[in-house]
Amino acid sequence: MPSTQPDTLLKLADRCVMCGLCAPHCPTYVKTLEEGESPRGRIALIQGLLSERLPLNERLQAHLDHCLGCRACEAACPSGVPYGQLIDGARAEIHARQPQRPRPRPRTLQALHTLAPQRGRLRLIGRVLRLYQLSGAQGVARATGMLRPLGVQRLDNLLPKLAPIRAWQTYYPPRGAAQGAVALFLGCVADIADQVSLRAALRLLTALGYGVHIPTAQTCCGALQLHAGEPDSAATLAARNAEAFRALSVHAILSTASGCSAQLSEYLPAADLGAPVMDISAFLDQITWPSEPLLRPLAKTIAVHDPCSLTHVLRQQRAPYRLLARIPQLEMVALPDNGRCCGAAGSYLLSEPAMADSLRDDKIAALRALEVDTLVTSNIGCAMHLQAGIRAADLAVEVLHPVTLLARQLNAQR
Ligand code: SF4
Ligand code: SF4
Repeated sequence: MPSTQPDTLLKLADRCVMCGLCAPHCPTYVKTLEEGESPRGRIALIQGLLSERLPLNERLQAHLDHCLGCRACEAACPSGVPYGQLIDGARAEIHARQPQRPRPRPRTLQALHTLAPQRGRLRLIGRVLRLYQLSGAQGVARATGMLRPLGVQRLDNLLPKLAPIRAWQTYYPPRGAAQGAVALFLGCVADIADQVSLRAALRLLTALGYGVHIPTAQTCCGALQLHAGEPDSAATLAARNAEAFRALSVHAILSTASGCSAQLSEYLPAADLGAPVMDISAFLDQITWPSEPLLRPLAKTIAVHDPCSLTHVLRQQRAPYRLLARIPQLEMVALPDNGRCCGAAGSYLLSEPAMADSLRDDKIAALRALEVDTLVTSNIGCAMHLQAGIRAADLAVEVLHPVTLLARQLNAQR
């Protein structure tokens, strides 16, 4: 994904007629009511920067940094302004002009950027973190307050209870009548923090008759790098993934994290891979399910959170609802104000903690009012951020991926 040239970016920005219809959809504008925190204001800042009318200073950088990249504005814009491309392009331009940015990033975020493409090292860290949780060291560290001076308290708060990080086979055959083959994308954070959803996806897919390929050469999707203004690093990762998946003969390449699904499907065309990249819910929603009952009933009401990547980028937010409706007796209620970002937004939850937590507080208040004990969401970043808020609010709500709930309800013979 080569970076968009400044003159092309300016032409794209010129499509904005400054009508402001996007403003009420923008979480940062709704929170602050500042023009510089609105999509229209940011587009004007980008135009000023690219045409050299405005200097790159801390204030301008802050307004662009505060953007979640949720793309609610893009979905709402009647003029078709490609806001996602604009903000990514502007960040790349800033990075190219000034690698030492006016506003430094937190160290934890820098470490995440370095480690994300290194699967082996990341999995090793995951195993150490699991030991840290199981040994009781996490409880001691939290109780003594030693995490705050080390600058890792926020990261520790986000850490879910880690499942065993086991090795993956390169292929899992289907159970029962074969329907075809798919490939599973593991992701970087999901491979250590969301093994439960990945294993649930595997169980569900093989039960539905799909063989599942998991190529070992796959790597991080590159979203972190792209949204941080490093399109060349993101392109390198896209090329590594294309190489890892291209030789497989599969119906689709599936991701359980909608953030990765959005990044991969925008930047890895099916023509390059031989198969489309799909979010797992969209795939499971479109295939033919067996006619015999596959799922056990679940008589309760759950809440559903719609990640921005699924809603505003992939525009497939109804897929998890249709999928979960396959569970007999299950009732679903959408989390109020689902079109508004929860504040996770990739690495935003680390780089802009005040806004991230403020947006999350609204979600937690809405969740509390629903009085449910389960929240499903299709993106690991949102799940971690919401789960940390749920813990802090002392709510007894379990956060699950839709496929985890489906796999739990599979009949025993499957
Ligand atoms: S981005 Fe679209 S909706 Fe927002 S001000 Fe520009 S033209 Fe209007
Ligand atoms: S991407 Fe989201 S936060 Fe950024 S300007 Fe658009 S609506 Fe606002």
